[in-house]
Amino acid sequence: MKDTNYDLIVVGSSFASTFFLKKYLGKAPASARVLVLERGHLYPHPERVKEMRGEQTPYAALNPNYTDTFVNKSAGDKAWRFSIGFGGSSNCWVGCTPRFLPNDFRMKQRYGIAQDWPVGYDTLDPYYDEAETIMSISGPDDTPFPRKGAYPQPPHLFTSVDKLLHQKYGNLYINQPTARARTPVGSRNMCCVSSTCTLCPVNAKFTIENAGMGVYEDPRVELRYGAQVHHLTLAGNQARQVHFVQDGKEHQATADAFALGANAIFNAHILLNSGDANPHTGKGIGEQIGMQVSVYLDKLACVGGSTYVPANGYMLYDGDHRRDHAACLIESSNAPFVRMERGKWRDMAIFRMVFEELPHAHNYVAPSADRTKPEVHFQGPSAYVQKGIANMKQKLPGLFSCLPVEKIEFSDPLPTESHILGTTRMSSDPKAGVVDKHLIHHQYRNLFVLGSGSFTTYTPANPTLTLSALSLYAADQAF
Ligand SMILES: Cc1cc2nc3c(=O)[nH]c(=O)nc-3n(C[C@H](O)[C@H](O)[C@H](O)COP(=O)(O)OP(=O)(O)OC[C@H]3O[C@@H](n4cnc5c(N)ncnc54)[C@H](O)[C@@H]3O)c2cc1C
Repeated sequence: MKDTNYDLIVVGSSFASTFFLKKYLGKAPASARVLVLERGHLYPHPERVKEMRGEQTPYAALNPNYTDTFVNKSAGDKAWRFSIGFGGSSNCWVGCTPRFLPNDFRMKQRYGIAQDWPVGYDTLDPYYDEAETIMSISGPDDTPFPRKGAYPQPPHLFTSVDKLLHQKYGNLYINQPTARARTPVGSRNMCCVSSTCTLCPVNAKFTIENAGMGVYEDPRVELRYGAQVHHLTLAGNQARQVHFVQDGKEHQATADAFALGANAIFNAHILLNSGDANPHTGKGIGEQIGMQVSVYLDKLACVGGSTYVPANGYMLYDGDHRRDHAACLIESSNAPFVRMERGKWRDMAIFRMVFEELPHAHNYVAPSADRTKPEVHFQGPSAYVQKGIANMKQKLPGLFSCLPVEKIEFSDPLPTESHILGTTRMSSDPKAGVVDKHLIHHQYRNLFVLGSGSFTTYTPANPTLTLSALSLYAADQAF
């Protein structure tokens, strides 16, 4: 290491860290010195594609398998999914990027549920714009959330079934806003509609590796791979030092400010290992609950979409029902399928129903005997979600009455939506959460805790656009 004292030390190199750094570097002086500690390594996209094709690549062994990095004590088949390495889960995400609705930030005020976020939609609006520009998001002009101007890329094409639903529901059934490119941009090709987005074969979705954000090429930034942070020294109202293992050796570094961007499981774990005594730290881990719905159609082939998830439906999302049961976001799916009946091969539409969840303290992250491996405890979907599912099953036949429906089949809830939320929740009142509206720890005033761990409530919309906008906002306000 060149030196051990930095202006800023950042942990992790995925969305939360990179968007924070992007804004920070735009404001910091030429003399600023930043250290980024990344547990994994760069696994370049072409090498990942080789592995996908069954070819050998030495990169395949560089990063740990995520299932080996924590102890899952969750009930049933509940899974938590993410990726370790440079760019984190940007390498395996699917690129669905809807904004939240304004009411998602004020669930208490509107529906008497959980807590309001200390930051509202209007405050985040310009940072949403900036994040959408950086990711070159494709989307429609008319959306259920307020948005000025056009998306950077035109919308993806609907399927034949989406068209009918859009005709009926207007801006409550829209082309999905997405980071799967509609048109080529930078080093990204246009979406190939193969629905293998967790490793896009044509590099169409936004990733930190293909982002061209200039963050890790900046001469002020020193990026260290294979550096696993296990705790911070916390003293008084400050974080003083970061402790990490690299090449089997212990290292420390000091800085004026620190930013944790290791995701909601590991951010909480690092804080707990550091002796953070905030009673909310690690508590309330959750995510949305998803389930698949297969709609069998009479003489209507579901064809024509230009991407994996071509549309989002908001008909069961916002409204007074959220006082009683969970909002549901409808995602249409364009993954290849065949209906196993002669002459009806394509006469079926598949949807994913995604339900919001509430934070509960009985779902939590805790340290384990191994200081590098957190435990994750989760008891299962709440009654709020179960009621949301029951409501969806009751309402769906009516909502889809504009389609020639033969029958509808519902799957069980899926093991994961791959979104990790809560554990360091944002609050106005320091007694009610872990970080303030600028994602600064309520007690340690030079410590940012980034990412979707900061979410106060768990709307059904995908989290990554919002967590990226929050990182831009936090760095903009603080520096
Ligand atoms: C299969 C899949 C599909 C998804 N699809 C979508 C989608 O369509 N839309 C959406 O909004 N979201 C999606 N997500 C979720 C999305 O990927 C995450 O919300 C997002 O990646 C979180 O960003 P992050 O920077 O907070 O954390 P992560 O992406 O989890 O990155 C954390 C980083 O920290 C590093 N790290 C971890 N621990 C340490 C440590 N102790 N020391 C140093 N470094 C450490 C990791 O290596 C990694 O680089 C998906 C996720 C998965 C897994």
